[in-house]
Amino acid sequence: MKKDLTIAIDGFSSGGKSTFARAIAARLGYVFIDSGAMYRAVTLWALRHGLVAGGVPDEAALVAALGDMRIELWPDGRVSLDGDDVTEAIRSLEVSEFVSRVSSIGAVREHLVALQRGMGRDGGVVMDGRDIGTVVFPDADLKIFLTADPAVRARRRYDELRAAGVDVSLADIERNIRERDHQDQTRTINPLRRAPDAVVLDNSNMTLGEQMEWVEKLIHSSGKNHKDLLNEG
Ligand code: C5P
Repeated sequence: MKKDLTIAIDGFSSGGKSTFARAIAARLGYVFIDSGAMYRAVTLWALRHGLVAGGVPDEAALVAALGDMRIELWPDGRVSLDGDDVTEAIRSLEVSEFVSRVSSIGAVREHLVALQRGMGRDGGVVMDGRDIGTVVFPDADLKIFLTADPAVRARRRYDELRAAGVDVSLADIERNIRERDHQDQTRTINPLRRAPDAVVLDNSNMTLGEQMEWVEKLIHSSGKNHKDLLNEG
């Protein structure tokens, strides 16, 4: 019988985690969950409600409002906040500037981790983020830690945003990526860490196709149940 796995993908900002996670989910017929989109939606909510005065989030007001925010992740990858489609808005540089501060608030993390665990309760999910293999699903069946050179990550993000018509500079993107790497790794609560049992993949010089070949080999080598998932026996 097929076992529905839980697959955790963690790593640095703009390392291609979501693209990779989405492709794995499509390959296995699983649900893909972008946990970063949830932190971004909370950040956008705070910005829209004037709770980030002078770059510092108003923690008390934000935490009090957590239960009222309606964050929905749709199967087609769209994200809505209180019924409003915010798929593009959560990717703005303004949200990227503040998201690491908002995500370092303990109560925000507790709230979102609880929602994420609920979404992955039945398995059959590929979730990407910073603390999926360490905190959200420490018992995940497969854990992958993605890394890539910061300059390569900045260039990818820059190309993506320019293609979407957003006017940004490569230098600003690279600065933001390095800042978020630093903040995500040094925050006190649930910092970005490689789980001891995560397999590391440096995708600096890999296409998505090559990453998929790599993950299929990993699934093959990790047991009979896992092989069945690829419908290859
Ligand atoms: O994955 P993405 O870059 O969109 O995530 C945005 C931010 O959300 C990260 O820089 C990090 O601060 C936060 N995040 C987190 N824990 C996660 C996912 C994202 O703290 N599981």
